[in-house]
Order: sequence, then C-alpha cells, then structure tokens
Amino acid sequence: MGFINRIFGSYSSKELARIEPIKNKVLALDEEYQQLSDAELKAKTQEFKDRLEIGETLDTILPEALATVREAADRVLGKKPYPVQIIGAIVLHQGRIAEMKTGEGKTLVACVASYLNALSGKGVHVVTVNDYLAKTQAEEMGKVLRFLGLTVGCILHGLNNDQRRAAYNCDVTYGTNNELGFDYLRDNMVIHKEERVQRAPNFAIVDEVDSILIDEARTPLIISGRGDKSTELYSIVDRFAKTLTPTTVVEIDDKEDQDEINDTADYIIDEKAKTATITQRGVKKAEEAFNIENLMDPDNMTLLHHINQAIKANGVMKNDIDYVVKDGEVIIVDEFTGRLMQGRRFNDGLHQAIEAKEGVKIARESKTLATITFQNFFRLYTKLSGMTGTAMTEEDEFKEIYKLDVISIPTNKPVIRIDHNDQVYSTEKGKYLAIIDKIVECNQKGQPILVGTISIEKSELLSAMLKRKGIKHEVLNAKHHAKEAEIVAQAGKFGAVTIATNMAGRGTDIMLGGNAEFLAKAEMRKREIPEEIITEAIGYADTDNQEVLEARKVYRELYDKFNAEVKEKAVAVKEAGGLYILGTERHESRRIDNQLRGRSGRQGDEGESCFFLSVEDDLMRIFAGERLENMMKTLNVEETMPIESKLLTRIIESSQKKVEGRNFSIRKNVLNYDDVMNTQREIIYKQRSQVLDGEDLHESIMNMMEELVKTTVNNYLIDDDIKDDWNIIGLKDYFLGWLIGPEDLTFEEDELESVTKNDIIEALTNKAKEIYQAKEDEYGSTIIRELERVILLKVVDTKWMAHIDDMDELKKGIGLRAFGQKNPVIEYRYEGFEMFDAMVDSIREDTVRMLLTVKLQKNAMPQREQVQKPDAPNAGSGDGSFTEEARSKKIGDNDPCPCGSGKKYKKCCGMNK
Ligand code: ADP
Repeated sequence: MGFINRIFGSYSSKELARIEPIKNKVLALDEEYQQLSDAELKAKTQEFKDRLEIGETLDTILPEALATVREAADRVLGKKPYPVQIIGAIVLHQGRIAEMKTGEGKTLVACVASYLNALSGKGVHVVTVNDYLAKTQAEEMGKVLRFLGLTVGCILHGLNNDQRRAAYNCDVTYGTNNELGFDYLRDNMVIHKEERVQRAPNFAIVDEVDSILIDEARTPLIISGRGDKSTELYSIVDRFAKTLTPTTVVEIDDKEDQDEINDTADYIIDEKAKTATITQRGVKKAEEAFNIENLMDPDNMTLLHHINQAIKANGVMKNDIDYVVKDGEVIIVDEFTGRLMQGRRFNDGLHQAIEAKEGVKIARESKTLATITFQNFFRLYTKLSGMTGTAMTEEDEFKEIYKLDVISIPTNKPVIRIDHNDQVYSTEKGKYLAIIDKIVECNQKGQPILVGTISIEKSELLSAMLKRKGIKHEVLNAKHHAKEAEIVAQAGKFGAVTIATNMAGRGTDIMLGGNAEFLAKAEMRKREIPEEIITEAIGYADTDNQEVLEARKVYRELYDKFNAEVKEKAVAVKEAGGLYILGTERHESRRIDNQLRGRSGRQGDEGESCFFLSVEDDLMRIFAGERLENMMKTLNVEETMPIESKLLTRIIESSQKKVEGRNFSIRKNVLNYDDVMNTQREIIYKQRSQVLDGEDLHESIMNMMEELVKTTVNNYLIDDDIKDDWNIIGLKDYFLGWLIGPEDLTFEEDELESVTKNDIIEALTNKAKEIYQAKEDEYGSTIIRELERVILLKVVDTKWMAHIDDMDELKKGIGLRAFGQKNPVIEYRYEGFEMFDAMVDSIREDTVRMLLTVKLQKNAMPQREQVQKPDAPNAGSGDGSFTEEARSKKIGDNDPCPCGSGKKYKKCCGMNK
C-alpha cells in the first residue's frame, strides 16, 4: 500500500480533509465564545435542544455545540481541547473509530462528542475497560458536562437496580463493556418493564475499542444459574490425567509421526493449536482405569469429555500465563492484555478441570441463562464509535464486522520517539542477560525504563534478576487497577524501572518527570487524610463537606508544589533520552506491540523503544522456527551477541500477520455461530419486549389456543378420507385432563362416519374458550390479563434457556460433521432453526396448557412484589456468575409459585431452572 498511498493519499487523509472545514468552523467560534459569561455558555445547551426540537440536526448544530463544550472544558478543567481532539470528536460523532496515540487526550475527545450527541436526549454510553477508568472519567468529564446542564451517570460493579436505572437515565453514562452487556441481558429476563434498567441503546463511544471488540470477542458474556451436575468426576478424572505421559509437538500433520506417538505417549499437546489429543495408548489406559470396554462408545461420552478437558487443563493451560490462582479461585488471564478477567470462566467444563488440577474448590457446572457476544451486543447501538491508540492493523476487521471506519488522527505534536530495530538473540538466556544490561545502562544515566512482558511469570523472573543486581523497581500484574495506575503514573520519573505485563496500568498516562497528581495523593496519605476524603478532594464532584473542601485546598497546594518539581525533573529525564520502552517478547498481534511502544513519546516527548527477542521465544519458535534457525545457523552468532536485521524483523512481522489472520478467522467463526443465535435472540427479545410494554395479549392467547388445537388435531387425524388411520386414542390422551374428560371424544362406529376433522377442531376450540371464559368469570379480567403476561414470559424464558443449552450441544456436535463436505455453520443454522420452531411450538403448548389449568388460591393472587424476579442485579455479581442461590432468596422451592398457578414453585415456573 505504501506507494499507492503516496500517490493517491491514504483513506484517512482524504477523510480528514473533509473534516477539516468542520473543525475550522468550531475553532473560528473560539474568540466569540470566550467572551460569553458562564450563564450564557450554559444557556447554549437549552438553545441547542430547542433547535433540535424544531427540526435542526446534530450535524447543523455541531460547530456551535463543540465550540461550547470546548470553552466549558477550558473553564472547568483548564484543558482546552486541541484542534486534533476536535477532529477526533467529529470522527466519533460520525460513528467511526478514531485512532489517536497515547497521551493525545482521548478521554476529553469522548466528552466533546458525547456532549453533542447527548443533546438528542436519547443517551450516550462511554464504554471503558475497567471500573476504575469509568469512575475517574465520569468524575472528571462529568464536571464539564454538568456545568453545561447535562446529567452524568456511572455504572459500577455492585450498584443496585435503582442506582443503575438512574445512571442509565442520565444524558451520558460511563461504564464497562461487561456491566453494560450484563445489564442488557438481565433486562431481557425481567417480568415487569419497570424492572428494566437500560433505555434503548442509542450511541456508544467505546474506549480502547480494539481491546473490547477484538481481544475480548472470543469470550461471550454469559449469565448463568446453578446447574445440577456433580463436580466429583472432575477430581477423579484429574487424578487419572496426572498419571498420563504427554508429548509435545509443534504441529501434528504427519500421519507417520502420529503412529509413532501413539505408541510412546498417552496424549499429544499441540502448542500451536493449543489442543491436547488422547492417543490410542491413552485410550487404553482410560478403559482400564475406569473399567469400561470402549471409551469411544456414545455411552461414555461424558467421561471422554471430562478426560479431554483434564488433559487440556494439565497439558496446555499454564498457571500464571493462561490463568492465575488467587484466593482459591482460578481467574482467566486475558491472553492479549494480561488483564485478569474476574468472574469470567472458561466454558465447557475446562474451568472446572483446571480447578481440579490446581486443587481448589470446583464450582458447580452452571447452566447458561442468557448469553451474547460483544460483537452482537455493540451492534445493537443505533450508532457506534470507538477510540484506540492502535487500530489500523485491524482496519479490515472493524470494517467487515462492525462496518466501522478507522480514521487515523494526526498527533497534536510530532512524535519524536526513536523506535529501534529488534535485537534478536539466539537463546532466551542471552536475551535476558542483554535485557538486564540495558536496564542497568538506562538506570545509570537516570533514563526511566518500562519493561513490557507477556506474562506474570516472566515479570517475576525479571524482577528476581533485578533484585540480585540490587536495582530498585516496581512490578505490575494488572491485578489492582487503581494502585497500579498510581505506580505506572510514576514510571516516567528520573531513574524509574517498571516491569509490567502488557496492559497493566493501561489507560494511565506516563508523564516524564513523574505525575504531580499521584505524588500529591501519596503525600496526603502520609498526612493521614482518610482515603475517601482524598478521593473526593481530587475528584471533581461538587460538595459542601468542609473536610473535603479543606483537603481540596491541601491538594491544590501540594499539586502546585509537585508540579513545579516534576517539570524541573522532566528536563533531566528528557536529557537522558525520555522514557525507554523495552519489549521482552513479540506478541501474537502487532497491535499490542504498538500499544506498548506508544506508552512513550506522548505529546512530542523524547523517548525510545526496542524489542529484545530470542529465537527461543514461543512466538518465534512456533511460527517462524525453521526460517529463523537456519538464519541464525548461517550467521553463527554467540549467545550474547544480538543480531539486528531488516530481514529478521520482516520474518517476525510476517509470522505475526499469519497469527493475526488466524485469530481473525477464529473470531469470525465465533460470530458466524453467534449470528444464528442472534437472529433467534432478537426474535425472542423483541416479542418479550412487546409483552413487557403491556401489549394486550388476550387476542394472541386466543390465537395460540386455536392454533394449538388445530395443529394437534392435524397431527393425530391425518385425513377425513382415511378414518381408519385416525389416532383418536392418541388425541384423547393428549388433551385428557386439561381440555377434555374421559367421556369426551368417544364415538360409536357409525357416528364416526359422519364426523369430520373440522367438527372436532371446532368442538375442541369451543371447549377451550369455554373453560377459559369460566376462569375469567371466576377471577376477573384484570387478573387473567396479568396471568397471561406472566405465564407467557415464564414459559418463554424457561424454554429459551433450555434452547440455549440445546444450541450449545448442537454446536459441539456439528463440529464433527465438518467432514463430508458439509459446511458446519450452514448445518448449524438449518438445524438450529428447526429446533427454534420446535421450541416455539412447545411454548404455545405449555402456555395454553398452563392458562387452562391455572388455579389461583385466593390469597395468592399475583402481586407485583412477589412476581418480581428475585434476581435483582445487585444479587448478581455483575460478572455473569450470579447463581441460583442468589436468585431464589425470596422464593423457596416449596413456596406457592408466584405466577399464581397454585402449585409449588419447584413444580411450576421453578421447574426447569
Ligand atoms: P489517552 O487516553 O489518549 O492516552 P488521556 O485522555 O489519558 O489520553 O489524556 C492524557 C493526559 O493529557 C491527561 O492528563 C489529560 O488530562 C491531558 N489532556 C488531554 N487533553 C488535554 C488538553 N486539551 N489540554 C491539556 N491537557 C490535556
């Protein structure tokens, strides 16, 4: 693309040229708006809303609106958005992705764009990667937005329903992707619309959009309840798996190899594909150990599944790389960002298998109640936009899957960071020695250095080596966001050495010389000012609490003092070369490497970056192994001698591209499957919403009755002409007890002659209506209307949840059909829809049956409080793992069912839970 871009200009530069005049209009209003009084500036908001009311559009008020919020940011925060930030905000408003380097001030860009879009009154969501960022951004930016008369909310873990609803009703709402996604799913499980917390998804600005839409795209959000399977088998199988001997290959493709392996090992670990496969020898051992004849027999499927997960847990999944064990819990480590994915679980029993392997408590297998991928969740928004420091490498994916353009925004000041060529060593040991030397070298001249590692384990290794050298340093593992933000903020101090897994402290700016804000905070702590007072003092919220106001004054003084010091120290840091970024391993994705580099050189700062690699690194070994090895051999280099060549860098990049491509197809595959579920989910959720919104269901219920009778009769009575084939007995059995009595549908031989199928349909339909009318007469219309709603929703939910599980099983099974030229996704879609139709039929059947048989106890009339689902989100942990225990706090299994059927809960709506 290089030269083509030079001839025609890149896509971004052409798009930027179009935005230029709009930006200029905003800047041109600057002087005029500076003259406005605070009151006049604030009055703009109402003026814009009025103008939108009478037909203007967001686009026509854009220049004035952006100029307004620009001036407000200057007055309130002392930060006036730079011209490039205005461009960024326009890009967001256009529903695109703004690629802006670290330190360019994306938080403020989001604030500018959200002000404009919030004027429509439909709500704006600013999505961050963790609670800490949501909170700090909502506080700081909230100050600007509130100044202009808008409301700002923040969704945090642990809020209850009412607090959430209030936050979502604000003009601008900050929150993490997890919280927003889970709230969406939970909103589609409520029985009364007042319980919903979200409004219709309107406009989302996704910060770190690559992390959320790409890196996390492979793990869907899941809300689960307690399943009923025992966990014992996991421990038993784990003990067995530990007796097996694995062998590791880079890639299995050779048939002969496989035969040989079959004789010498029990299972094969494929590092590249991250799989573990049992060999014939392993199968034999299992058959002996579990005393069965044939492991591959369908009867033994559960055992086989457990064995497969146990060997994967023991052979492939590594502690401190793929997961960590903390406080007796196995927590997933995001492979791209190194973040701990609290509350998420590996699916399909793998998580339990790892728990067994690590000897911690094994969680009960859960049952999925609702699920959605982030791709499909974010596609629900009418308008979607995003920001990130690095998106160009994934441009195609954003375009293809989200229909999102990536526009690369120029930096405010030119980047002068020096990016050195990779230094490649022939062994890992040689590499580490060189890394330590480099750290020592930087440290001696006072140049701050940030060392990026790909795992907690590697961080710890480096830390131990530095300790031996007596070098003071900090280690960050993305375990404590707030604390790590403070440490990373100081990573630019003179002589600082910081080791961090890839994304630890992401989202916090590293300023040369240190960070005055965090220094002031530390000093306040030393003076024993309580933590919550400090937080409020630094925060932007208005307050009349004297203690806070006092602390705010202290903070101001300290800040000014430290800021002056920091500025002075920054000069020395700049002279030492600025922040040095040292990458210790290439990541699978170039984007992540670029993010690491981008932590240095912000706002025109001095800086350097360099990757230290070795031929023994996983990525190199697995993806470029032979080519590299040959090259190293020809060069015949010593362990501690780096080689640095363009060719090498190219080999590495091309293997990264290969992996990126593969990961893209995996994600696309996930999406292809989820799209099938998505279509179904949309149908169910849409109809659910209609029911919730109070649509009168009576007519639909009556139609369901007629339809049910008709279909059923047609099932049993084929044709009027061949009455011999009529299965009257079957038909009777079906309706007996809830529609007809034992004497009904009894015909003499000659009677049958003159009866037609339609007669029977009509008679049964009338009977159903009669019974139903009698119920209505007995209980009254109001109650029956409410019952119709509640019963239909309950039935739909129960069936839908079972359907999710069935679809999951189908997906697992269908993979096997990839043989025989069949496209598994098409098969899945086809069969999935057949199952969906069957589900719809059974919803109809159960709803009608329940309505016709419902008996209300006089004191058990459905009351709102009772019917309300006992699983208010605060009972859940916000991470999708809220369990049945939490869900049934109010209703015991033996209590009368809240739907009013008169049955016990466990025999009624609680049945399939
Ligand atoms: P990014 O997320 O793009 O890395 P941040 O939003 O964290 O950047 O902002 C980086 C730093 O720059 C913050 O300290 C922020 O307050 C500051 N900043 C952003 N925009 C401006 C501005 N227009 N004027 C002054 N400071 C700014």
